[in-house]
Amino acid sequence: MSGKAFFIDTTLCTGCRGCQIACKQWNQLPATKSHNYGSYQNPEDLSFDTFKVVRFNEEMGPDNKPRWYFFQDQCRHCLEPACKDAADLQLEDTIVREPYSGAVLFTDRLKGLKFKDIRDACPYDVPREQEGSGYMAKCTMCVDRVVNGMLPACVKTCPTGTMNFGDRDKMVEMARNRLAEIRSSHPKATVSGVNSNRAIFLMADDSIKYHKFADARPSLGPMNRQLALKKIGKSLKELARDWSFLNTA
Ligand code: SF4
Ligand code: SF4
Repeated sequence: MSGKAFFIDTTLCTGCRGCQIACKQWNQLPATKSHNYGSYQNPEDLSFDTFKVVRFNEEMGPDNKPRWYFFQDQCRHCLEPACKDAADLQLEDTIVREPYSGAVLFTDRLKGLKFKDIRDACPYDVPREQEGSGYMAKCTMCVDRVVNGMLPACVKTCPTGTMNFGDRDKMVEMARNRLAEIRSSHPKATVSGVNSNRAIFLMADDSIKYHKFADARPSLGPMNRQLALKKIGKSLKELARDWSFLNTA
């Protein structure tokens, strides 16, 4: 089983923000106090109480006319989550993976761990901390809905076909087909996350026009000597296991 994934076709988004509101409603998240900072985007960023935000960027399009670049920012549910690597260095299994869907889930055991290391490790700058409490949060893939055969709330709500969800191999296929369809009219179109994530985005133009973390940034976090050694140690243990299996088979 390949688990589940989102396919997010940004070319179809109208910026209605229904997905953002549905996320708040299902997860019973309070409204976020915001202010006019010169953009239609609201709220300004992800937060402990905002797991999903539709980013509004106005940029020059390929025709040299200004146009909106909407981006549905949320956790990508990485296949190899760097947030989990960083958290495991402090305390094992404070971030877990739900086996049926593959969703990456933050637990309350994260409270008190070094938040900066975990946020910096994320290539998409997703984790957020609650001020004062030390708890951390992000998109849960609506895993309580998904394990009961329902769609995530954002997908269920989206009226344009931007948000899609299903078996990961089907979402990959959908992304590749849509990319092939729009390539002739949008030569810069790309798909991100096909090999690494459970949130796969189709973008019609350079990813930087959508959001500075639309594509992965190099890890700033503790992907350092300690983590590298730990990973090498793990691979050597796996190799040793395989080797002894081959020699006793
Ligand atoms: Fe973790 Fe960031 Fe990947 Fe989400 S996007 S699973 S927070 S590393
Ligand atoms: Fe875009 Fe769909 Fe979200 Fe509306 S609900 S902002 S169309 S992704």
